[in-house]
Amino acid sequence: MKLHVYDIPLTVVFRGITRRSGILFEGPAGWGEWSPFPEYDDAEATAWLRAAVEMAEVGYPEPVRGEVPVNGIVPGLPPAEAAERAVASGCGTLKIKVAAKGESLDDDIARVAAVRDAVPGASLRVDANGGWSLDAAADALRELEQYGLEYAEQPCATVDELAALRAMDLGTPIAADESIRRAADPFLVKQDGAADVAVLKVQPLGGVRACLRLAEELGMPVVVSSAVETSVGLRAGVALAAALPQLPFACGLETARLLAGDVTADPFFPVDGMLPVRPVTVEPALLEEYAAGPELTRFWLERWERAQ
Ligand SMILES: [Mg+2]
Repeated sequence: MKLHVYDIPLTVVFRGITRRSGILFEGPAGWGEWSPFPEYDDAEATAWLRAAVEMAEVGYPEPVRGEVPVNGIVPGLPPAEAAERAVASGCGTLKIKVAAKGESLDDDIARVAAVRDAVPGASLRVDANGGWSLDAAADALRELEQYGLEYAEQPCATVDELAALRAMDLGTPIAADESIRRAADPFLVKQDGAADVAVLKVQPLGGVRACLRLAEELGMPVVVSSAVETSVGLRAGVALAAALPQLPFACGLETARLLAGDVTADPFFPVDGMLPVRPVTVEPALLEEYAAGPELTRFWLERWERAQ
């Protein structure tokens, strides 16, 4: 099996990174992507590998819908640029990044306010990536309530903090992301009443079928999100969103635009906030164009060996 190591610049700084890289490979069922973030250890990366192998060797379960609604993503930009990005996404739901290092609550409020002004009818949600303390999160949600958020994603880092924040009943539902996908026990969130919504990502959670089982066991509404992948990885997220029995919220799969390029001529760009459920054709010329240099290739091939 030939492993293709890709290296694609991002169009904006996102979760502190400026490039995305990983391995793409073709199996009997199609293409697979293995792209655990570089700082994740080998143990964490093996779940991502199970997902990649499922993509390439097993394929996807039957969809129950032909297209999935997605949210536009608004990175930690200044207000005017954030508003511009929200409008350009064409999506009726926007996820706004907040609580970035070096930013104040005022910065976050200004960004959310600018997006609310620009798209008055849109559903808004924020994602803090665990960046707030319990007190800061409570302050933030009190301030942000006026913008009518559908939920706040991972406002604090720990399950205990999420549970305490949720118990304050500040009017904004709580979604758990890192507390599920990076936790030793994803069920603590349910057991401790720490969230109203579960964010599931295919690669970190070991595949589409593993996520379907988890969704059933968690018994709460699920939002499928990407791990900032090429359209090969996004395809798996679309497959999960298409196969879930219920899909009450737009999914975080509008991330192809965060990459400055892709390995298919027809990336998963939403039209009117929807992504079709369809296969992805990988172009050899694009694999070539975005092939990683020797050093990065060595990093990924060694990592691949260790993950087997
Ligand atoms: Mg998140």
